Amino acid sequence: MHSSDGGTVHIIGAGLAGLAAAVRLSGSGRAVAVHEATAQAGGRCRSYHDQTTGMMIDNGVHLLLSGNHAVLSFVDIIGSRSGLYGPDGAEFPFVDLANDERWTLRFGDGRLPWWLFHKDRRVPQTGVVDYLPLVRLAFPTADKPIAQVTNCSGPIYDRLLGPLLLAALNIAPPEGSTQLAGALIRETLAQGGQACRPLLARDGLGSVFVEPAIAYLRKRGVSLAFDDELVALHSSDGRVSQLEFAKHRVDLGKGDAVILAVPPYVATNLVPGLRAPDAFRGILNAHFRIDPPAAMPPMLGVINGTCEWIFAFPGRISITISDGSRLFDVPRAEMAQTLWRDVAKVSGLSGDLPPWQIVRERRATFAATPEQNAMRPAAETSWGNLFLAGDWTATGLPATIEGAVRSGYRAADLAGLRLRAVA
Ligand SMILES: Cc1cc2nc3c(=O)[nH]c(=O)nc-3n(C[C@H](O)[C@H](O)[C@H](O)COP(=O)(O)OP(=O)(O)OC[C@H]3O[C@@H](n4cnc5c(N)ncnc54)[C@H](O)[C@@H]3O)c2cc1C
Repeated sequence: MHSSDGGTVHIIGAGLAGLAAAVRLSGSGRAVAVHEATAQAGGRCRSYHDQTTGMMIDNGVHLLLSGNHAVLSFVDIIGSRSGLYGPDGAEFPFVDLANDERWTLRFGDGRLPWWLFHKDRRVPQTGVVDYLPLVRLAFPTADKPIAQVTNCSGPIYDRLLGPLLLAALNIAPPEGSTQLAGALIRETLAQGGQACRPLLARDGLGSVFVEPAIAYLRKRGVSLAFDDELVALHSSDGRVSQLEFAKHRVDLGKGDAVILAVPPYVATNLVPGLRAPDAFRGILNAHFRIDPPAAMPPMLGVINGTCEWIFAFPGRISITISDGSRLFDVPRAEMAQTLWRDVAKVSGLSGDLPPWQIVRERRATFAATPEQNAMRPAAETSWGNLFLAGDWTATGLPATIEGAVRSGYRAADLAGLRLRAVA
């Protein structure tokens, strides 16, 4: 057992929320200690070496949009923005596998959604009035399932709203939350092309979001402990007084604070009475070791296929299926064949199935329904020196790395204020 001197912020969990909190607090003059249960940082946003394909792969392709200002500030601070790449503009090429029709949504570079008024930038066979559901969704009143507010069929839904909401909310859109859909539309589509440019981690998530953050934190004297699982929080006088880890304990002084940046199902075990989302949705990713054809766009939306998005990276083609739990019982080799058929069809690649890997993340995000959204807690807790962070806290956004980073920043600011107040 050892005791800290006071003025230390202990951050539990080194996912994007925990790393963002640590980055925000580092250099503030306070001691910062990060404790991560596993051997690796990144949480649900991580890269690792896969022996089957012999490649570095991501647990799942992560798409950012240029309007994700908190994540972009994070990568600017840690110096890894150059690792993000994407099309030059806000362009979303699509293919319909039912008839091989191809089109590209082009949002232009404006700060307003002028793209709506350009016939060649809209979804084929749609007029401006067809986009009125977007306006209704952008400004929801009470939180309801999306199907209660807009028609979940027709060209706009099938070719724009459906794929976008499925990817961003990770849930079948009809049951998704209008509040979360509204936040997404207000922060991206309604801001015009300057907020909608897709950005991907070219050489993997680790090289953009994780390793540079670790290097940044180490340089600033932040202590980082791996294989350091928190198993209990002990409290007295309305504050956390001791952290019990699997292998040691830390007594907290009056000036110490704790940011709990773990998944909700861990947080509810550690904090008595905490209410948090308890239903989840999965995501399925596949990675194929092959050079994509030069003409292949960095990302391609697929309608009427098993793949939903196909991504071209140097030496690798990856695919994503959101809310993909329905496919988790399909034998992996069969799944790989099915997905490869889609990839081969749209890319023109032929030949045998290349080396592949399938990654199934069962609890990829909390289920973005109105009921689960209402269960998200604020960062402040009933214990004065304990703050919550994570994509599942009440950020107002779907479970995304933008939400995770914003939650980390907010918890860091609150912990910093608390330390100033007791100093
Ligand atoms: C397959 C997949 C695809 C995704 N695609 C996208 C996308 O395209 N765009 C997007 O914006 N978002 C995407 N997301 C969501 C994004 O990954 C998450 O929103 C984000 O990573 C959550 O970060 P977090 O820090 O809140 O939580 P987590 O990443 O879950 O971090 C929590 C950390 O706490 C640690 N921990 C747990 N228990 C303890 C304990 N007792 N003691 C110490 N440490 C503990 C965990 O090991 C973990 O490192 C995707 C997620 C998945 C899984």
